[in-house]
Amino acid sequence: MNVVPLFSERKQATNLWNETIHWWPDHDIKLRFVETGDKYWFILGAVSKKPASNKSLFKILSKSEHYERFKNGHGGEAYLRLGVYAILHKKNAKDDTVCNCKHRLDDHEEDSAACLVEDCDCKNFVSFQVNLLKKTKTVTDIKFLQEDQVKEDPLTWNCLYTNKYKEMN
Ligand SMILES: [Zn+2]
Ligand SMILES: [Zn+2]
Repeated sequence: MNVVPLFSERKQATNLWNETIHWWPDHDIKLRFVETGDKYWFILGAVSKKPASNKSLFKILSKSEHYERFKNGHGGEAYLRLGVYAILHKKNAKDDTVCNCKHRLDDHEEDSAACLVEDCDCKNFVSFQVNLLKKTKTVTDIKFLQEDQVKEDPLTWNCLYTNKYKEMN
């Protein structure tokens, strides 16, 4: 399954890949998910021989269907790619651009941009587009943790300590 951290700017994603992730040997990459209520921390990092690339990145995200599917279906292996997203509104879209409601732009009303497909409650055309960067790494060190387990996992502990517990003290 794919794991695709998203960025709003292509430059940000390519820089992160070229300066950091590129230097991570596949088997050193650690992928962690820490569940806290209906959110989870996504943590990605590695320790390599190039100290400058020993970084980690994290995001706090809401649990989703996609997350549950990955959790139950990854089978111990994930393909890491970076994605760049863009939000397209009606004026920048083509007739066949697919809206987040899964219907094409030409299924939406000219003026209000509301969807005309029966039973669809989309009120406004918006399309979330993701472009994937070509480079891929294979990650096999994947763990799902509850918050009371993070002390046993240095990457996760360092991340939560720096970004959560330290500020609470
Ligand atoms: Zn629709
Ligand atoms: Zn729509």
